[in-house]
Amino acid sequence: MTIENVKKEVLQCTKCELHKTKTKYVFGDGNSVANIMFIGEAPGSNEDKQGIPFVGKAGGIFDELLRSLDLNRESIYICNILKCRPPNNRNPNTTEIEACTPYLDKQIDLIQPKVICPMGNFATKFILKKFNVMDKIPGISLLHGKSYKVTNIFGTIEIIPLYHPAVGTYNPEMKNVLLKDIQILKDKKD
Ligand code: URA
Repeated sequence: MTIENVKKEVLQCTKCELHKTKTKYVFGDGNSVANIMFIGEAPGSNEDKQGIPFVGKAGGIFDELLRSLDLNRESIYICNILKCRPPNNRNPNTTEIEACTPYLDKQIDLIQPKVICPMGNFATKFILKKFNVMDKIPGISLLHGKSYKVTNIFGTIEIIPLYHPAVGTYNPEMKNVLLKDIQILKDKKD
């Protein structure tokens, strides 16, 4: 199994209703042997049109965060919990998350990142639950910028939850929190 095989699977997925309303599937972007993997929530309208994650307003903030670390899309991997856009950007529901996240599981297994940064509540809940980090998972305001080390069959993974970049588009103070939190990745780039 390669990342290209998984992409082919996603590009013909009909496991939930979202494939009927989406324009394009949004599989992932960046370097598929990256050390650092970022995980967002779901495509928005720009991503849905282009088939690439984080290319709209939130993507502008995301790229700014990368630049603050001298990183770019080629040095990291970025994808989402859902590969199709929920209509009107509503929250992902449980059925959709359960149908779609086996693709994310495969992306993680194939990329074998050393660091995973789930961004926002949905991605953070999914990742902390997947790696059995804690029983009851609080909101992102209590978890952002912290580091949790877990081990799986590929070795140790450090999980660093971050606020979702979208919060930086309407709140400059939150953008500063994001810029501060992401500095934790400074010594984990290579
Ligand atoms: N928000 C997300 O969570 N993902 C995207 O790809 C774009 C916006």
